Amino acid sequence: MTTDLDLDRARRDTPGIDHVAHLNNAGGALRPSLVTDTVVAHLRREAEIGPYEAEAEAEDRVAAVYDSVARLVGAQRDEIALVQSATAAWNVAFASLSIKPGQRLLTARTEYISNAIGLLQACERSGATLEVIEDDEHGQVDLDRLESRLDDDVALVALTHVPTGGGVVNPAAEVGVLTRKAGVPFLLDACQSVGQLDVDVDDLGCDLLAATGRKFLRGPRGTGFLYASRTVTERLVPPVLGLGAATWTSPSTWEAVPGALRFETWERSIADNLGLGAAADYALGFGLPAIERRVVGLADRLRADLAELPGVTVRDKGVRRSGIVTFTVEGRSADEVRARVAAAGVNVSVTRLSSAQLDFGARGLTEVVRASPHYYTSDEELDRLLAALR
Ligand SMILES: *Cc1c(COP(=O)(O)O)cnc(C)c1O
Repeated sequence: MTTDLDLDRARRDTPGIDHVAHLNNAGGALRPSLVTDTVVAHLRREAEIGPYEAEAEAEDRVAAVYDSVARLVGAQRDEIALVQSATAAWNVAFASLSIKPGQRLLTARTEYISNAIGLLQACERSGATLEVIEDDEHGQVDLDRLESRLDDDVALVALTHVPTGGGVVNPAAEVGVLTRKAGVPFLLDACQSVGQLDVDVDDLGCDLLAATGRKFLRGPRGTGFLYASRTVTERLVPPVLGLGAATWTSPSTWEAVPGALRFETWERSIADNLGLGAAADYALGFGLPAIERRVVGLADRLRADLAELPGVTVRDKGVRRSGIVTFTVEGRSADEVRARVAAAGVNVSVTRLSSAQLDFGARGLTEVVRASPHYYTSDEELDRLLAALR
């Protein structure tokens, strides 16, 4: 495959490739050495001079993590909150909205399990109702249907950009045009797109965006971030606040701090946050457009080759497709397939109906095998998966 990305460098920097063909980047990627080294070096420093003292020593680098993450998504540094997962980011943003009885929340079939549960729970608590916008004939959220449902009483549009269990890339930028026109807050789950696609919050038109560190971004586990645009943040106050998120201005008064820091909790792993910053810098070094071209190219090649194998059905839909490739094998359970390819040194994963009730339910699927290459994946590694399946 032709590419403008330095594959040799990407592979040299990824020690995990000596052990396994890792096609589970949608679950958690192999980290580049730089990320591991950054985390370990800070943990050592904490042990040597004290945790607070190590943080003070790294003050400039800790602050620079916000710049790196902001650059990654085209945001300003005061629009970024560092939290411990995409779920934490999504929940703190969602819980900060005021939802009134009778209002409606709109989402799509591909909404992520935790968000869907959060939406359902909020409806039970607030008396709002959840409306699921159908997919169009291509398997992406139907923009005409969405537009027709965007009335004054809609409190939120929640969309998953790239679902966990399918190759579609939802037309988030087109959704953003509609929500801006309607003046409705737009919360985008970009957990699977940040780090694999060229994501820019201005292009997407979202007010709030949640992402994780460990997946395509290749950062440490236990990291994530929220983008909250300056325009919405002033109106959003999280239901749970602590030191760092609010100021205790007198014995009986407090104020939320300006900007996205109000969405953070005070205690965090400084080592992991530094690792997240290193992961963002590392991705920016290759350039997200180059990463996207390579990931999407590898996934397209894999889909084409899988479709040639007898008994294999590729399940991905959508006009635009991501690096997530899903398929089923006739007469074999997804777990059986995963175990077989694992024995050949290839990591893939399984997504089930229980985490995709709306999406898989409508498509009559109970489970799929998921293969998610990354830019550091080689063609030979894809061949290894295909050979194991054969
Ligand atoms: C993995 C995933 C999440 C959750 O991310 P965490 O960091 O585990 O909270 C959210 N949305 C999508 C689409 C995901 O794939």
